[in-house]
Amino acid sequence: MPQAFGGPRVLLRRLREVMAQPTSPQDKLDRIVILIASNMVAEVCSIYVQRDDKALELFATEGLNREAVHLTTMKAGEGLVGLIAKEAEALALSDAQAHPAFSYRPETGEEIYRSFLGVPILRAGATLGVLVVQNTATRKYSEEEMEALQTVSMVLAELIAQGGMQSLTASGQGGGFTGPKHARGVSLAEGVGLGHVVLHEPRVVIKNLIAESPEAEIKRLEAAIGQLRKTIDELIARGDVSHGGEHKEVLETFRMFAHDQGWLRRMREAVLSGLTAEAAVERVQSDTRARMLRQTDPYLRERLHDLEDLANRLLHILVGADLTIARDQLPENAIIVARSMGPAALLDYDRGRLRGLILEEGGATSHVAIVARALGIPAVSEIENITALVEQGDAVIVDGQTGEVQIRPQPDVENVYKEKARLRARRQEQYRKLRDIPAVTRDGEAIDLKLNAGLLVDLPHLAETGATGIGLFRTELQFMVASRMPTTAEQQQLYKAALDAVGDRPVTFRTLDIGGDKVLPYMQRVEEENPALGWRAIRIGLDRPGLLRSQLRALLRAGAGRDLKIMFPMVATVDEFIRARNIVHRELAHIDRHDRDRPASLALGVMVEVPSLLFEIDEIAREADFLSVGSNDLLQFLFAADRENRLVADRFDPLCAGSLRALKCVADAGERAQCPVTVCGEMGGKPLEALALIALGFRSFSMTASSVGPVKAMALKLNAAAARKQLETLLANVSGVATLRGALKAFASEHDVPV
Ligand code: PEP
Ligand code: MG
Repeated sequence: MPQAFGGPRVLLRRLREVMAQPTSPQDKLDRIVILIASNMVAEVCSIYVQRDDKALELFATEGLNREAVHLTTMKAGEGLVGLIAKEAEALALSDAQAHPAFSYRPETGEEIYRSFLGVPILRAGATLGVLVVQNTATRKYSEEEMEALQTVSMVLAELIAQGGMQSLTASGQGGGFTGPKHARGVSLAEGVGLGHVVLHEPRVVIKNLIAESPEAEIKRLEAAIGQLRKTIDELIARGDVSHGGEHKEVLETFRMFAHDQGWLRRMREAVLSGLTAEAAVERVQSDTRARMLRQTDPYLRERLHDLEDLANRLLHILVGADLTIARDQLPENAIIVARSMGPAALLDYDRGRLRGLILEEGGATSHVAIVARALGIPAVSEIENITALVEQGDAVIVDGQTGEVQIRPQPDVENVYKEKARLRARRQEQYRKLRDIPAVTRDGEAIDLKLNAGLLVDLPHLAETGATGIGLFRTELQFMVASRMPTTAEQQQLYKAALDAVGDRPVTFRTLDIGGDKVLPYMQRVEEENPALGWRAIRIGLDRPGLLRSQLRALLRAGAGRDLKIMFPMVATVDEFIRARNIVHRELAHIDRHDRDRPASLALGVMVEVPSLLFEIDEIAREADFLSVGSNDLLQFLFAADRENRLVADRFDPLCAGSLRALKCVADAGERAQCPVTVCGEMGGKPLEALALIALGFRSFSMTASSVGPVKAMALKLNAAAARKQLETLLANVSGVATLRGALKAFASEHDVPV
């Protein structure tokens, strides 16, 4: 091997010796900076550790004033060190003081040093700190030196991650991975779950970072890459898109990356700097992840995800471990942690052992969120880098109400949540007591509370909640969790199971609402600029009636001899409904021709979720047998605010005048035409919102199982006429009022209505 690589390898070996010694973390860091400085012929070597408050604290130095240790801190983004941590990228400067980000700290005495080389200390993409070397002379650091320092920083990352750093900081602010941590994201499904981390895609634990023989490691790496390419080629050749639920496009991307020279070169260089093959893969993967976390372009982010997945496969090959978690060996109280997840994957876990779900990505209306709610497990998303912040088996708490996550909580924090969970269980018990009591307001208005469903796992909720039927059966869920197109017979089977489960109560089936964000992995994707406004739902059904017809056939067969209700999603004009109805009539004729039984009765309805329908509302109320307000979509289109986009999700309150007036126009039209109207969007499942909807005239709602109890408890205490009067007054005086939420809350509390 070339002599140049002897340097870093010797350094790595010495580092390993220091790490193995039974001394304190501070002592280890003090020795390490001396080692690095002498090996790299630098006058200064310093280690900064990022604390929980994101500030970077000087933990050890050779060359700067020792008194500055644990005194000098840089805020996130401050100075060169802050910049490196923020960007997670190395920085080499021959004249550091000329850099605009340079921040002079007199206590360190660093003004005499000109050249500067700093690298982030990364672990699984998270910045743990910054490692810096400095020289008095103006000099250029070579690529090899930068590579060597990055390799050393990876070894340091392990030391920092092992913990023990908290006690060192003057402020008591923690650093590293082993202490308690708190994070806040967005809530996907409510409830409080206490349990232990189960990583959906377990990380490979690398025990051996430092190579004995780089030549042997290069050989191992090349062999593993060869095997990786072969596996991908085989998967593509097999055409089995169901394998792991991957799209063909993803496999093609994998193939491209597996041949990417840049990626391969970076891994080889990392091996030559002294790492084992698996450590080299992880180092490059960590850089990728760091870039991914900073990438805002969704397309590029997705590609970086793909690259990370590929690196994971490579690690599995190298370490030889089968890391797919055995579904039947799930621990009790499992809290699943994943970057993102499809609905089918969540359904694969043993429901009896699931206590929660934590994701890095996935909106409240995503399919996995729908499944989490159907399973009744608390779920939180948008927890940045959670898969890297936890280890398998760590204690963790998910609060689906506030969107908070407590990682490795202290006993007092754990007790608070245990109490919260107990309180919730008590409240659930009270709701259960309401199960068989009809929801009637104090002034005698009957409120119909139905369930939103779509999967077999939803059906037991009927009996648990005492809901009066299924008001929205999302038929696309069966399609979304399947790895191939469900056959007509399979569809029929599910619809029949739903009808059997409700007995003599009604089920309203909604025809396929696919397209837009509801992508089927096995269907060819159409590239669209604005999928939410694109070719989706009834539009596909009318343009390519084959799929709609086969679904209608399954519905009509499942509903033979029974009362059947079918509704169409995303209808924008009356004409679209009439065309859909004609297709149903053609299918009925088909049934007659084949001497099969028709449903005993058939009602055809329309989802009111495209605002244009508000301006044809009387006509549609006359044509349709019933209407159902999809407030999720109706409000997103009304306010031009993407329901999946956090930046705009809270911008408009559903309880503002514009929204309430739009909804009122549906309730009024229903009454004028004597056409039954239900609200099946999320809005109807929230007690205060349901109060407002009752005040607007709605009497029928369909919602997730966990909402039935709270909405019923609210309705039982409400005087609907008084609420109506109050809302009319409020709506007549809204000028300049952003939302009526406050006023409605005040009304509820005055009248002792629990919201
Ligand atoms: C809605 O849009 O409110 C609705 C109920 O349908 P989905 O959430 O399935 O789009
Ligand atoms: Mg909708």
